Amino acid sequence: MIALRKMAPPEILATKGPEWTAEYLAAKTAGEPVSDTVRFRYRHAAVKATLHEETHSKCAYCETRVSVGETDHILPVKERPELICVWENLALCCKECNRAKGPYYSASEPLINPFVDDPDRHLLFFGPLVLHRSGDDKGMRTTVRLELSRPDLIERRSRRINDLMPLVDRWKVHEEGETKKLLWQLILKEAADDSEYAATVRAYLFSEFGVRVPSEPDNRAAA
Ligand SMILES: [Zn+2]
Repeated sequence: MIALRKMAPPEILATKGPEWTAEYLAAKTAGEPVSDTVRFRYRHAAVKATLHEETHSKCAYCETRVSVGETDHILPVKERPELICVWENLALCCKECNRAKGPYYSASEPLINPFVDDPDRHLLFFGPLVLHRSGDDKGMRTTVRLELSRPDLIERRSRRINDLMPLVDRWKVHEEGETKKLLWQLILKEAADDSEYAATVRAYLFSEFGVRVPSEPDNRAAA
């Protein structure tokens, strides 16, 4: 999980969102069965496309690359129906994280919202594992509820680190010069926001080089 930035809402949601929300709430209040059309308007193709763009087609929680992915309500519609078509409440996520997260909701004890929180302040990326920082309840709730160290993720993250090792080895032994500089650029690329499991890669590179690789400047880091 990495810190994410919410893009501007897609035009369709900015203009139609309030109307779609009102329609959904009216149907619910009337006790009528809500039609799929009204219930799933937030799944509009333009909304999905922007969700893909802002997370580089990765699950907002576990960073697994998704080709289609699911649209998650960060705060579940069951508890917060008024947020059904609110852009800030939507995120691209993988099927497994969506299933694990389920209808979890607590106003006083929320999970990490990667668009608001800096996950690094709550989570520890330790090899292929994702752990909570000692004493951090928000991190603990998030790792447990989202199953961020589930076996398939551990396997994928392990493979990610293993695939990166030859490049790191090569950089370390290479003589100074342009080639070595280019190798470093390739290493940095692996840790970029659009790279799969970037948080794991960054932690691995930190353990190897003792430096935080550059990422997007973010005022949350100073908070
Ligand atoms: Zn996921």
